[in-house]
Amino acid sequence: MGMGSIPRFWRNMQSRYNLIGRRCTRCGEVYFPPRNFCARCRRRGKLEEVQLSGRGEVVSYTVIRTPPEGFERQAPYVMALVRLEEGVMLTTQLVDVNPEEVEIGMRVESVFRKIQEDGEAGLIYYGFKFKPVEE
Ligand code: ZN
Repeated sequence: MGMGSIPRFWRNMQSRYNLIGRRCTRCGEVYFPPRNFCARCRRRGKLEEVQLSGRGEVVSYTVIRTPPEGFERQAPYVMALVRLEEGVMLTTQLVDVNPEEVEIGMRVESVFRKIQEDGEAGLIYYGFKFKPVEE
């Protein structure tokens, strides 16, 4: 099975596991999750894979006290909009921090953590979350 036949779903999973985005070689715009065309340059741009630093800062955040099904045991928890050093924005959960201590502009870095455990099916999902940078 060649690379071309890997289902889109798995490619997206891999990029979430590895924090791999795409950068336009023409204008420098970085995309995460990866996409096929640069929104600015369209077909004139060429996208190449880029390993993201996983470091950035909190742009905004919200404390979740009434979580969706499956996340009850984690409440309260913090969902944040994080701007990575590469300029990409992503929504992520903040861990290893009290909700009261989170601030706009706080430096954070990615950590690989369990996202959800599906008791019945025995499935465990992993992915990136973010925690404060220890300075
Ligand atoms: Zn571009």
